[in-house]
Amino acid sequence: MVPVPDRDSARYWAALANGALELQHCRDCGHWTWPPRPVCSGCQGENLAWEPVKGTGKVYSWVVNHRAYAPEFAALVPYTIVLVRIDEQDDILIPGRLLSAVEVYQDLRVRAAPERLTDDIGDLNWVALLE
Ligand SMILES: [Zn+2]
Repeated sequence: MVPVPDRDSARYWAALANGALELQHCRDCGHWTWPPRPVCSGCQGENLAWEPVKGTGKVYSWVVNHRAYAPEFAALVPYTIVLVRIDEQDDILIPGRLLSAVEVYQDLRVRAAPERLTDDIGDLNWVALLE
């Protein structure tokens, strides 16, 4: 299943296709904005630039899917979707599938593991960083 980019999100999906997690960063107030949109979620300004983030963070919440909600996901069941607070800014929660077969808990350290789906579109997975 391939995400469908729109005007605001196309750069996000394209960066993932190239192995990078990039978000909109405000040149006026320094706020990171997610999900992609035309204006900064901090100051409502339009001076946003796409920049890479470190790609690390902590699990805030998660759900374990025991049913495939689309036929394409049948081979993945059960699979875990996590919401991750990125290290740059803790009010940003970015979803993705957790690839690691670990017991999930709040504040589990993870890093982004982008996956190329097409030349222009990638998807975001996360893997656990275990101490
Ligand atoms: Zn701003």
